[in-house]
Amino acid sequence: MTVERVGTAIIGGGIAGCALAYYLAAEGETDILLVEADEMGSGSTGGSFGGVRQQFSTPLEIELSRRGLEFWRSAESVFDSPVTWHANGYLFMSGQPDIVAKLAEAAELQRSMGLAEVHVLDPEQIREVVPWLGTEGVLGGTYTPNDGRVTPTEGVAALVRAAKARGVRFREKWEVRSLERAGSAWRLSGPGVIEAERVVACTGYWSSDFLRPFGLELTIRPVPLYAAITAPALAGHRVPLTIDLDTGLLIEREADGLMIAILYENNPPGYGHARMLEQFAELARVRAPSLADLRIARHVVSNVDLGGDGHPYVGLVEEGLWMVAGFGGHGAMHGPPVAELLARTIAGRPDQSLDIEALSPWRPPVAAAEWMVAAKKG
Ligand SMILES: Cc1cc2nc3c(=O)[nH]c(=O)nc-3n(C[C@H](O)[C@H](O)[C@H](O)COP(=O)(O)OP(=O)(O)OC[C@H]3O[C@@H](n4cnc5c(N)ncnc54)[C@H](O)[C@@H]3O)c2cc1C
Repeated sequence: MTVERVGTAIIGGGIAGCALAYYLAAEGETDILLVEADEMGSGSTGGSFGGVRQQFSTPLEIELSRRGLEFWRSAESVFDSPVTWHANGYLFMSGQPDIVAKLAEAAELQRSMGLAEVHVLDPEQIREVVPWLGTEGVLGGTYTPNDGRVTPTEGVAALVRAAKARGVRFREKWEVRSLERAGSAWRLSGPGVIEAERVVACTGYWSSDFLRPFGLELTIRPVPLYAAITAPALAGHRVPLTIDLDTGLLIEREADGLMIAILYENNPPGYGHARMLEQFAELARVRAPSLADLRIARHVVSNVDLGGDGHPYVGLVEEGLWMVAGFGGHGAMHGPPVAELLARTIAGRPDQSLDIEALSPWRPPVAAAEWMVAAKKG
């Protein structure tokens, strides 16, 4: 069989892999081939809600968000490609005093890091911003009007185009079935055989299985998120991406309708669209009465890349083999800046202002460091 030789093989064409391809090429790396098992953006990226928020509780995730916001807000002009930024804002709320206190604490940290537009709201102020919300039982929340929503596949298309312009090659329907050392190079076997001097696995929630042969025990796992798109609703109203942290209730704008879902870390047994919609209707009667009996236009489901400790796994697996994956459901916003950081490290010019050493896939397992994951226990 003919063996194709390349400098760098990137495995996985989600937002992380496509951004990495672009940033590596921008760093001057050449001879890059990205292989994707299915189609570009067909993994978590394609199903993503695309919420982009500054609201996190650890300095690392807040800094990644600052960079992610900048990426998405400027992508359309930087890449001269259609990447729409919907400046809808983001709202978290809770009826639990300890959570409300933690939200305020996180807001303070965000402000101290230069993200000025974060508002700590009481229930009355929440109703002023979002009059269609019912705040019975709510004690407070945090609102970031400059956060927003994107369509991550638009980012994928823009990055692919920009990377191609810098010489990167992309190949779809090319699943890597095995990866093994071949002398100083790596052999990727799939529909053909590729030997690469360097490999970067950007394999999303497949990464735990894909990288286990190298001794890594990652806990990244796919969790189906059952959601629905409603018929037109709340015309003329502001709809921030709204999450009730106590119940997992999520509402966001989707064209002239809404995307609705209940966020879980693990779905309860037997969970699916029917149960989700029942729960939504029950919760909406209190939290968003005008939405309780909305017509549903379409069911949607996609696997979120949950697991880990709230931070992505980024760095060297072993010599010549790198990885980036495990965004805990935040990779649409954090994928591009993390890929840029990794590209700079691989190219030997690490970003001195943000050390990614702490994100090493070999870091010891710790209890969740970032609590603002917004999904409730099943
Ligand atoms: C319903 C839903 C809502 C979400 N909402 C948000 C949100 O509001 N904000 C946010 O920031 N994030 C959100 N996320 C999470 C975000 O979409 C992910 O964190 C992000 O897309 C992960 O990108 P990735 O490139 O790491 O993985 P993926 O997009 O999953 O890409 C991995 C790719 O690798 C390919 N692959 C795997 N194994 C192989 C192999 N052996 N050979 C070749 N190719 C392979 C797969 O086919 C896939 O295309 C959401 C996700 C979902 C599903």
